[in-house]
Amino acid sequence: MHNSLKERDKKVNWHPYTQMKTADDIIPILRGEGAYLYDTEGKRYIDAVSSWWVTLHGHSNPFIAKKVAEQLLVLEQVIFAGFTHQPAVELSEKLLGLLPANQQKVFYTDNGSTAVEAALKMCVQYACNNGLKKTKILAFKNGYHGDTFGAMSVSSRSKWTEPFKELLFEVIYIETPTKENFDDTKAVIEKHIDELACFIYEPLVQGAAGMLMHEPENLSRLMQHCRSNGILMIQDEIFTGFGRTGRLFAADYLTEQPDIMCFSKGLTGGFFPLGITTCSEAIYEAFYSDDPYKTLFHGHSFTANPSACTAALASLELLLSAQTQLNIQRISKEHEKFAADLDGHPKIKETRQQGTILAIELQTANKSSYFNNQYAHLYSHFLNEGILLRPLGNIIYLVPPYCISNDDLHYIYSTIKKMLDSLQSH
Ligand code: PMP
Repeated sequence: MHNSLKERDKKVNWHPYTQMKTADDIIPILRGEGAYLYDTEGKRYIDAVSSWWVTLHGHSNPFIAKKVAEQLLVLEQVIFAGFTHQPAVELSEKLLGLLPANQQKVFYTDNGSTAVEAALKMCVQYACNNGLKKTKILAFKNGYHGDTFGAMSVSSRSKWTEPFKELLFEVIYIETPTKENFDDTKAVIEKHIDELACFIYEPLVQGAAGMLMHEPENLSRLMQHCRSNGILMIQDEIFTGFGRTGRLFAADYLTEQPDIMCFSKGLTGGFFPLGITTCSEAIYEAFYSDDPYKTLFHGHSFTANPSACTAALASLELLLSAQTQLNIQRISKEHEKFAADLDGHPKIKETRQQGTILAIELQTANKSSYFNNQYAHLYSHFLNEGILLRPLGNIIYLVPPYCISNDDLHYIYSTIKKMLDSLQSH
């Protein structure tokens, strides 16, 4: 079964971020349970990256699965233009109740990139609907916001985006905020102040760049500057949302409120693709008009899919439970202890931690990057040890599901430690 599935896979599937020639290494997965994935030969893997940061409460979580199964027998899908349904309304109300108070309206899409596209379109059209021409976007260097054209444009230019560079729109880049660079950043903003429609950023943690982190006070200060200069703010919480950073949202560390927020990934507990873009009343008001041309013309076929909304509601219920909150604190503390343990290891350049996210950047003779040649060795080493870790080049990171046990965490830590020690002895 294992081999025949692989052969069929090779004929039909084009895997993301994998070269075609490595398709031989694709692992057929039969089932998932809690923090574990099982392949067709029965081998078990601890999913230490929550399958691209989406699986909050473990695989095939029975509570979410049951709610979704019930919903599927009631209403599986309905057009979300001119129609609505209970799960979408309930989810909007519940989510808004957890966000900064100025977030008042919910716009549904169907993944993280499209949540970002909707947010960018809102900002540019907000200016347009108000009779202004503001089309430039401010973004962080090293940012990542998705793989569609708008999301690629506002992400950092890299090898990933190189073939499309002529087609991507212009973005003004700034460094992530420190105490020292605030004046330089202000000067860059000042130069483009009249044309800036918005600022988009990953708050506190830049995930795809290698779990790069910045301080909440410095981000709050920058946000305050944007607010006082009329620059709308899009806070991309697609990765940082739903407990990843130790609090419910990265917003909970900040003193300023963004105008727009984007969510996906953990939103449905990892059960379904779903995107949400929330915004302030002021943004909504700029579109709410008798003039049809002020409409935000954006809608995906599966917008607010009822089953996905149901999974999100069930996931939120679990997330807010005392047990999950304790788990988040427990994982954060275990990560902290392990990071302290690694302190001063000669093979480590730096460890970074924010809540349940832990990154270990290895020393390298080359540049730290996604394409760093340490990736392939590390990835297959951990798979052999029954752990799914997918280093970003020379940066090993853990983003485990909240149900992971301490035993499994300690097994992962000791496997990493052994690997580092073996590098040292070479
Ligand atoms: N924004 C951020 C911060 C992300 O980490 C990602 C995905 N890694 C996206 C946007 C894009 O989300 P999706 O993959 O669902 O399109």
